[in-house]
Amino acid sequence: EHQLAQKDPEIYQAIGQELWRQQNKIELIASENFTSPEVMAAQGSCLTNKYAEGYPGKRYYGGCEFVDVAEDLARERAKKLFGAEYVNVQPHSGAQANTAVYFALLKPGDKVMGMNLSHGGHLTHGSPANLSGAYYQFVPYGVAEKTETIDYAALEELALQEKPKMIVAGASAYPRIIDFEKMRGIADKIGAFLFVDMAHIAGLVAAGLHPSPLPYAHVTTSTTHKTLRGPRGGLILCSAEMEKKFNFNKAVFPGIQGGPLMHVIAAKAVALGEALQPEFKTYQKQVLCNAAAMAEVFRQNGFRLVSGGTDNHLLLVDVKAKNGLTGKIAQQVLDEIGITVNKNTIPFETESPFVTSGIRVGAPAVTTRGFQEKDVKEVAEIICAALSNIDGEKIKSTAESQLKKQVAELCRRLPLYGGRL
Ligand code: PLP
Repeated sequence: EHQLAQKDPEIYQAIGQELWRQQNKIELIASENFTSPEVMAAQGSCLTNKYAEGYPGKRYYGGCEFVDVAEDLARERAKKLFGAEYVNVQPHSGAQANTAVYFALLKPGDKVMGMNLSHGGHLTHGSPANLSGAYYQFVPYGVAEKTETIDYAALEELALQEKPKMIVAGASAYPRIIDFEKMRGIADKIGAFLFVDMAHIAGLVAAGLHPSPLPYAHVTTSTTHKTLRGPRGGLILCSAEMEKKFNFNKAVFPGIQGGPLMHVIAAKAVALGEALQPEFKTYQKQVLCNAAAMAEVFRQNGFRLVSGGTDNHLLLVDVKAKNGLTGKIAQQVLDEIGITVNKNTIPFETESPFVTSGIRVGAPAVTTRGFQEKDVKEVAEIICAALSNIDGEKIKSTAESQLKKQVAELCRRLPLYGGRL
């Protein structure tokens, strides 16, 4: 066994404290999950020592025969899971995967349409603060004010007018199913690429519980650490024909990355193997049931949900509409009682991204922990009680101790990793 505790007590302590936090707080950040101990074992392995620039069978370094096995397994499993002819498992993150796609398909200055950040899009879909927004000319599309769902008619009109070279579909905070077929139809009308970033919903797609973008997208990317429940990282999927034409392999390496993280790729292989098991579908079904159960409690307690509800793993609660709160205060107060969420802008937001009117609530992590409908309903009731008992920026002391006790009791009853770590 390693001697981290003796050799680097400061880091050892930080890791121990983070484990304590994960065990003793309720994790509702929609983009997070808990990987299996086996995924962590692969990621914490000696594969981190290996340089392997290039791809299996065509490396720039010697000694790659065993890491090639790991990367080939990751690739084969990803192809099988998503029904793809080509995959690249080397992107270090979702942002890297997206950047490689832009690098392969666009020239600087090209016009692209992406979902408005404040309507649920991601930074890498054209934010001026991101390389995507700086190098390409992004035109945002969004949701309709009334339904708060993607306004496909307006999107089409804008696409016909702007004629972008690419349309990016996918989101970080969108609680509804995205109609990829419709978006491909729009892209085809103007000869644009449809690029789908399925980072948030990849686990649901893998389990067949959300329509797959693969039949419609020219290229699809994902993170591996959200609903897919793998290590932090990214991947790119497309047809053999698209790869032949645009060479995403070259765009990733040497385009935007150096040596791949072979330990992470091994961990991706483990996670993808897990996702191919029947239990993974059971898990994803529970994620959907849990998100719907929480949505019901928020509605019953008079909270407004963006788009009125959820079809996937997350919901957006408008905390301003009912109690005049901000997302910032709600996040702070929930943190104090042991529930972790993130503040989030809502469509047609009136507050700054640092303040916001909403919180994003996700089911993937608590579901991995073993929470079922009755448990997440209790969590949602605790949130409603906390948000209804705020004085200024703090929770009222009369409510605080009771709610903290309830959180602690739930964490005891449903321990992370069954209490084995
Ligand atoms: N794409 C979407 C839709 C996301 O939600 C995220 C992460 O939040 C990313 C890409 C970026 O992933 P990463 O943080 O791994 O770069």
